[in-house]
Amino acid sequence: MHTIVNPGSARPLRYLQGYPADTLAQVEQMLQQDRVADWLRQKYPQGHTVRTDKALFDYVQALKSEHLRGAEPLAKVAFDNKLQVVQHALGTHTTISRVQGNKLKAKREIRVASLFKQAPEEFLKMISVHELAHLKERQHDKAFYQLCTYMEPRYHQLEFEVRVYLTHLEVSGARLWATATSTPG
Ligand SMILES: [Zn+2]
Repeated sequence: MHTIVNPGSARPLRYLQGYPADTLAQVEQMLQQDRVADWLRQKYPQGHTVRTDKALFDYVQALKSEHLRGAEPLAKVAFDNKLQVVQHALGTHTTISRVQGNKLKAKREIRVASLFKQAPEEFLKMISVHELAHLKERQHDKAFYQLCTYMEPRYHQLEFEVRVYLTHLEVSGARLWATATSTPG
């Protein structure tokens, strides 16, 4: 079993459960040396510009049209500042069933934790792809991740980086990309 490098740390790295021990050790080391923010900002200097629920709907809808044309239509897509990132880590997808006449119609909703309003476009894409894949696959199984990597070939790397960012937030609380829209120099 992996032993946390710093024995005085009660840091659970809960967002990174399931990753290999050597990967966890590297993240732990970066956290101890306070290098995570620089590492992420170097990779992704700029945040995306999707600011509103309407813009988010259009963004997710465009991805769906490109890759998942046959899936059920999206009724709603929104940022949600009440979403507990811990519970689902990334976002939620719900199906609300409503009785219409004698038919049961499913309404698909995607909610994205609002902390991803300030994030690189790559992170938003990873989350959107994850939630869109749930339109077709309920479980986090092989078919699900195949669909994710079909929509975004860097999916696994991006999910890892998102999880590192969530860990960074938990440890230091400092949000990155908060002033994302300004253009550098
Ligand atoms: Zn999921």
